Amino acid sequence: MLKIKDYFCPNVKCKHYGFRDMNNLVKAGTYTCKASGENRQMLKCSVCGQRFSETHSSLFAGSHYSDKTINSIMVCIADGNSIRATAKMLKLSKDRVNNIVVKAVIHAETMLSSLLHSIHLKDCQLDELWSFVNNTKKLTKKASKLHSKKT
Ligand SMILES: [Zn+2]
Repeated sequence: MLKIKDYFCPNVKCKHYGFRDMNNLVKAGTYTCKASGENRQMLKCSVCGQRFSETHSSLFAGSHYSDKTINSIMVCIADGNSIRATAKMLKLSKDRVNNIVVKAVIHAETMLSSLLHSIHLKDCQLDELWSFVNNTKKLTKKASKLHSKKT
């Protein structure tokens, strides 16, 4: 489990929705996940009364696999293994591994989109960002030219 300050109330109608470290969350018991057999923490928002699992809105929510298995799948995929190779190594169903990876991709896209929306840039900052990208491209071209001369 993350630290309690890293969670936020998932109730969109709550005034603390989306805000971390507001001191509105308390631990509210545990439950055993039927699929994985692992104990999970329940949290409660003291403002709106919403109860939710520590895995709410995460890759681990509603999964038939344990957190450890999901972590192993993600490590194998991140190391460049295919879905089939990952399933074979971990002795899992190829379809289920594929479902976990698809769920992870959707979750990552959602997180990235959410994070990009929370960045409030001004025109000047966008101009600086564009200059940085252009300079990086120039440096990359110079580096590849130098590399091709050496080989
Ligand atoms: Zn709330």
